[in-house]
Amino acid sequence: MAAAEGDAYAGIRTEVAKLCARFPGEYWRAKDAARAYPAEFVQALTEAGWLAALIPEEYGGAGLPLAGAAAILEEIQAQGCNGAACHAQMYIMGTLLRHGSAAQKAEYLPRIARGELRLQAFGVTEPTSGTDTASLRTTARREGDRWVVNGQKIWTSRAEHSDLMLLLARTTPREQVAKRTDGLSVFLVDMRRVLGRGLTIRPIRTMMNHNSCEVFFDDMEIPADALIGEEGRGFRYILDGMNAERLLIAAECIGDARWFLAKATAYAKERVVFGRPIGQNQGVQFPLARAYAQMRAAEALVQKGLARFDAGLPCGEEANMGKMLAAEASWAAAEACLNTHGGFGFAEEYDIERKFRETRLYQVAPVSTNLILSYVAEHVLGLPRSY
Ligand SMILES: Cc1cc2nc3c(=O)[nH]c(=O)nc-3n(C[C@H](O)[C@H](O)[C@H](O)COP(=O)(O)OP(=O)(O)OC[C@H]3O[C@@H](n4cnc5c(N)ncnc54)[C@H](O)[C@@H]3O)c2cc1C
Repeated sequence: MAAAEGDAYAGIRTEVAKLCARFPGEYWRAKDAARAYPAEFVQALTEAGWLAALIPEEYGGAGLPLAGAAAILEEIQAQGCNGAACHAQMYIMGTLLRHGSAAQKAEYLPRIARGELRLQAFGVTEPTSGTDTASLRTTARREGDRWVVNGQKIWTSRAEHSDLMLLLARTTPREQVAKRTDGLSVFLVDMRRVLGRGLTIRPIRTMMNHNSCEVFFDDMEIPADALIGEEGRGFRYILDGMNAERLLIAAECIGDARWFLAKATAYAKERVVFGRPIGQNQGVQFPLARAYAQMRAAEALVQKGLARFDAGLPCGEEANMGKMLAAEASWAAAEACLNTHGGFGFAEEYDIERKFRETRLYQVAPVSTNLILSYVAEHVLGLPRSY
């Protein structure tokens, strides 16, 4: 299934697709069965420079706008691969680029661009606070030239396979701040230095191969200069990055929808039952046609959001709605693809059941559909805040 017409990143997509062809279904099936990290795939993307797409050229990256990163991630999904192994490097990057000091950028960005360091872990969600980020309980206390971190995160994906983690922690107690979103700070944690010394990582086995973890901080000491930007403004920094995250995840969902639709239409043309291709039946055609229409509509909104983001314009409406619609489109395409394949859709060798499990996540994470609808109700329609 082709990408949108008039795409400025057609050349990039072709190159990404070539790389992905080296990692066929067998590769992903074996990783999925073992719940193993696709290290070879991530290494290949790193060596080709794709994971440094958003790093400015002066630091050794490609200096692409967000739309370029979206094209890379969409294409990975459309080729049947899974960018979840490394997509965070794209969306976390903005916090370091926008709010990091010159010294932090000089220290980390060239090494990330060269593939010597991975910035893949994002520690926001906690077991007790969930979606209510401002209620998080992990604290960072300043002691001389260090911060001492205590608490717990959950669903910190790729923590075992990343060198760096972007961490959100409370630095001023909630009772002492005017707004509950104040007093939170962002840190760039070099996990290699603290693993086993205040930092414990425990993998969580999930319905798909996502390498997500619980992370525990027990008097974990990190240097004073691990703080990104100003102390107490971390919530705003994370919010700043959320539109980018939503647009990139939406692009991945569009890629997934393309994969499901390509797979389903090819099969519907060749599978003959009752003496004719199943794709000749409108009962088979219509769910695919509907999912295609949903995918194209989501894509248009996501492209608009990307254009606004890259132009420095507000894009919360497009990013939120685009993410919701793209996740729904990928799910509609997944359902239609599974049904089109009948019983064969459940056989692992077709890869459909694996992609089906993988794409389902995006209606829940990184932000659930309910919370997007709340955003639209409150910020777009002007209705009273519900929570
Ligand atoms: C595989 C996986 C990977 C993840 N990776 C990361 C990661 O790398 N880093 C990270 O920080 N987090 C990560 N997450 C966490 C993810 O962002 C959260 O799971 C998600 O934001 C939902 O939070 P929760 O699970 O605590 O659900 P809850 O907040 O407990 O919500 C449960 C349900 O209630 C609904 N709900 C809650 N409040 C309201 C409301 N006011 N109105 C309407 N409905 C409401 C939600 O929509 C949801 O359906 C990951 C999660 C998963 C499953």
